[in-house]
Amino acid sequence: MLVLVLNAGSSSLKYQLINPKTTEIKATGLCERIGIDGRLVHEAKSHQIKKDLLMPTHKEAIEIVLDLLIHGEEKVIDSIDEIKAIGHRVVHGGEYFNHSVIIDDDVVSKIQSLIPLAPLHNPAHLIGINICRELMPNTPNIAVFDTAFHQTMPASSYLYAIPYEDYKEHAVRKYGFHGTSHNYVSKEAIKMLNKIDSKVIVCHLGNGSSMCAVKNGKSIDTSMGLSPLEGLVMGTRSGDLDPAVINYLMEKKNMTADEMINYLNKKSGMLGVSGISSDLREIIEAAKNGDERAKTAIDIKCNRIKKYICSYAGVLNGIDAICFTAGIGENADLIRERVCSGLEFMGIEIDNEKNIIRNNKNRVISKDSSKVKIYIIPTNEEYVIAHDTYELVKA
Ligand code: ADP
Repeated sequence: MLVLVLNAGSSSLKYQLINPKTTEIKATGLCERIGIDGRLVHEAKSHQIKKDLLMPTHKEAIEIVLDLLIHGEEKVIDSIDEIKAIGHRVVHGGEYFNHSVIIDDDVVSKIQSLIPLAPLHNPAHLIGINICRELMPNTPNIAVFDTAFHQTMPASSYLYAIPYEDYKEHAVRKYGFHGTSHNYVSKEAIKMLNKIDSKVIVCHLGNGSSMCAVKNGKSIDTSMGLSPLEGLVMGTRSGDLDPAVINYLMEKKNMTADEMINYLNKKSGMLGVSGISSDLREIIEAAKNGDERAKTAIDIKCNRIKKYICSYAGVLNGIDAICFTAGIGENADLIRERVCSGLEFMGIEIDNEKNIIRNNKNRVISKDSSKVKIYIIPTNEEYVIAHDTYELVKA
């Protein structure tokens, strides 16, 4: 059985054709600049092609992908019927969805009603869903939500201390994101701990970064909020800051509210502090060469993660495991080392030799004496989407 996993963005479409039982990836790729000119990177059978191809809308992009899968030089299926289901990544499921669902008209209208909360993402996901329903009317479509895993948070975590009416009337609350990754990584950690009543902290550190406190397999707090802007210092996002900064800077820099939000989303974070790049590798390189702003950016980033670890230790009443995942979490030994050092008083002891070993397997990087286990667990969001899709359609 094969599942097509789609992640439709406003001008892009990421895809993978996966066998969810064996986890084999049959094909993977990315359509970019949809509606502008169109660029495709496609990989199948260890062969990669890059092409400029006109893609006026997502419809042409999906048609091109299906055509490559069936008729391309490195074709991987004989007919469209071999795709048994399509799993769609959907960023915002609001309070409607606490797990993945088979998409019907009701699900579509709920995703649509959440557009005000995810104006950049949900419209693009709906385009992807609607085109698949049109092109492959007999193939089930499944929605896998970034927010779903966090629906178990208690009100003490998800409510902001603003008038309650704003939650009731305008749905203002913490939703959290990266749920697919936090769910997968925490489950892997629980297997490694071999413990059901577990207290796990997941640090998903990529360009977008968030942390999650997971108690007995359920999210009870997370660092992203109403939008993915809250929490950690990210590639270009500020994360937490005093809301008074917004008004103050809008006046000083003569910015509109939209410009300000764009500034905090796109010009801030590691890029804003370092003035070098949003890419941590470049910042680490600059810091090694003595760049003070690069060093400060790394300090702020690690300090923020450390503060979240300590606050989640309180929320969880202890920690069994801290897990690092995503581009930075999996690869940046410097960040892991800096985050964990100084937390020995909490029983967090990183093993510096294990920490620098590179591979792509789940592994332990804490000392044998460490009360808290420290794990690296490579995330695999596409696989989780394929797996959820398979579970919903296999019957
Ligand atoms: P996203 O999916 O959120 O776009 P990723 O999970 O791919 O992001 O992570 C991208 C980040 O990982 C970049 O900031 C990049 O610099 C960082 N990264 C990748 N490899 C390394 C490495 N070896 N050392 C430090 N940072 C790394």
